This record gives sequence, structure tokens and C-alpha cells, in this order.
Amino acid sequence: MANIELKAVRKSYGAVEVIKGIDLDIKKGEFMVFVGPSGCGKSTLLRLISGLEQITSGDMMFDGERVNNVIPSKRGIAMVFQSYALYPHMTVFDNMAFGMQLAKATKAEQDERVRKAADLLQIDHLLDRLPKQLSGGQRQRVAIGRAIVRDPRVFLFDEPLSNLDAALRVQTRLEIAKLHHDMQDVTMVYVTHDQVEAMTLADRICVLRDGMVEQVGTPAELYDSPNSTFVAGFIGSPKMNFMTGAFADAFDCTTLGIRSEHIEVVEDGSGIWTGKVIHTEDLGSDHFLFIEIGSDEPIIVRQSGKWFGKLGAEVSLKPVDGNVHRFGQDDKPLG
Ligand code: ADP
Ligand code: MG
Repeated sequence: MANIELKAVRKSYGAVEVIKGIDLDIKKGEFMVFVGPSGCGKSTLLRLISGLEQITSGDMMFDGERVNNVIPSKRGIAMVFQSYALYPHMTVFDNMAFGMQLAKATKAEQDERVRKAADLLQIDHLLDRLPKQLSGGQRQRVAIGRAIVRDPRVFLFDEPLSNLDAALRVQTRLEIAKLHHDMQDVTMVYVTHDQVEAMTLADRICVLRDGMVEQVGTPAELYDSPNSTFVAGFIGSPKMNFMTGAFADAFDCTTLGIRSEHIEVVEDGSGIWTGKVIHTEDLGSDHFLFIEIGSDEPIIVRQSGKWFGKLGAEVSLKPVDGNVHRFGQDDKPLG
């Protein structure tokens, strides 16, 4: 239920500056995702919002109120981390109710809030179990449930899915999306290095690079209009193809970027590039062709459905409908 505003926020550990001046407005009820490479400051920024770490300079505002010196327990936040620290000797119910028990909430109140959260996460049938009797995904849901019963105004997640296997990651990702839908007043800030999680969960994504904001926007804005080669290469899978040298010169730019779905294999040889198919990946629904055209790296072309060509074949390629990204010497897009 809170709007969060960061104003020129900086954080140093000793002489090392880790967060280098961040201005960011996170709207009430928004699902904001921080992405960026390992070590760029995502967790630090989340900890600054939580109050677990003090900011070195700048201002942190919750609903217009300066919270720089407000301790975590008074900020109305709940955090879910990668490793779900549940108490091993307590049942799921007690794990979830523990905070309320400390706060001397009545039994009826504990019961109501725990059951409501358990219902939301579909873990009602697990309330009497001990953590060791749960799967990894169930434990992570209990950790999320424990955060929900605290009735936070801000939910902070730090890579909550990274300890789960691929199938559970997808399932839990859907549950978090549902949670956001069911708790529309609660502001959620979510850290991940997984751009698929970012694309699927976020209302807006904030791409961080070396302690600074590189770009903030909706997933579609970042995908369609990245404001640097860094964002272009970070958002989207497979990665955007980049070409330099003569390939870029032909488009009057320093770096030419083109996504795999925006390259077409043309049968009549009328393409603008030719190359040899050196590798293919069949994903069932899609087929990725790795094609050596003489650029720095083989380019990846996505064919939907099957591909009936041969490995080693010479193919002719062209961009689909002018869907290219042109970047200048400074790695910024050209108009
Ligand atoms: P991310 O979550 O994006 O991987 P972190 O926020 O954990 O990155 O870390 C950003 C940088 O800050 C890293 O270089 C890390 O080594 C440094 N850092 C994080 N916490 C501390 C700390 N308590 N003391 C010193 N350096 C730290
Ligand atoms: Mg981290």
C-alpha cells in the first residue's frame, strides 16, 4: 500500500561505492523487478528499501514520509529470500503464526490470518506438517505465507525461486503472479537475475548496471525499445544478435542489433546476408538456427515450428519488416 521513492540514493561499504546515485519511483501496488548481472547491487538496493542496511546519502521515502532512519520492523515490509529459513521444530501453522504469537495476537486472529494466507497459497492441507515433511516448493510457499500474515504494505523478494528446480520455478512463478493479482494494494519489489522471471512478473523492470539504473520501463518497452546495447543484450532470450563492422556500416550504425525472431530465411536467395547453418536446437515449438555469416558471432534465427533444412546448408537471410536496432559508438540507440 505504499509508494516508494528513492532520491539520489547512494550506499558505500568503506571506500567502495556499491549504489551510485539512484532515483526511482515505485508506485503503490506496482510489481517492480530489479534485474542486472551478478554483483550490480540488486540485493543491496532491496536491503536499503527494507532498512536492513542504512543508506549512505540520499533519501528513501515511503508514501512521502522519509524513512532513512526508520527500522525495518516499523516500515511495514515483509521479505522473502532465496533460502527460506523456517523453524524446523515448528509446524507450518506455527511458522506462519510465529510473528503474531510474539506480538501476542489472539488465537482467533492467528487462525484467521494464517488460514487466509494458506488458502491464497493453497497450502491449507499442510498446516500441521513440519518443514522437513515438505518439498522445496512447499517450503518456499510457507515462507511467502509467513510474510503475507504480517499484512505488509511492501513485499520484498530476493531471488525467491533460484533454489527451486525448473518445474517448481515455473509453478511458483505463477503463484507469485497470482499473489500480486490478489493483493493489488501491496507494492512488490522483486530481485532476480532471470530475465524470463522479470518479463513475466513485472509491471515495470528496472535494469541495474554497476550500481546505477540503466533503464526502467514495462517489459514490452525494454524489449522493443532498449536504450542501450546493454539492455538490448540483457532482456530477451535468446540474446539479441549483434553485428559490427561492415554489417553495421550498411545500416549506418556502430552496432546493429536484431532479435532472432526478426530474421527470415528466404528461399529465393533475395536476402541481404548469406551464411552456413552450423548448429540447430529443436525446442519442439521453435527451432533455433545458428548461422555463420562472418559477423563476430554466429547469429541465431528463430523458426517457429519445424525446420526442414540441412545442417551445413547455405541460406539467405533478411531482417523482417525493418525490425533492426541501430546503436552508435556510445552504445545508445540512433534515432
Ligand atoms: P547482486 O545482488 O546484484 O548480485 P549485491 O547487492 O549483493 O549484488 O552486491 C553488490 C556489490 O556490493 C558487490 O560487489 C558486493 O561484493 C558488494 N557488497 C555487498 N554487500 C557488502 C558488504 N556488506 N560489505 C562490502 N561489500 C558488499
Ligand atoms: Mg543478490
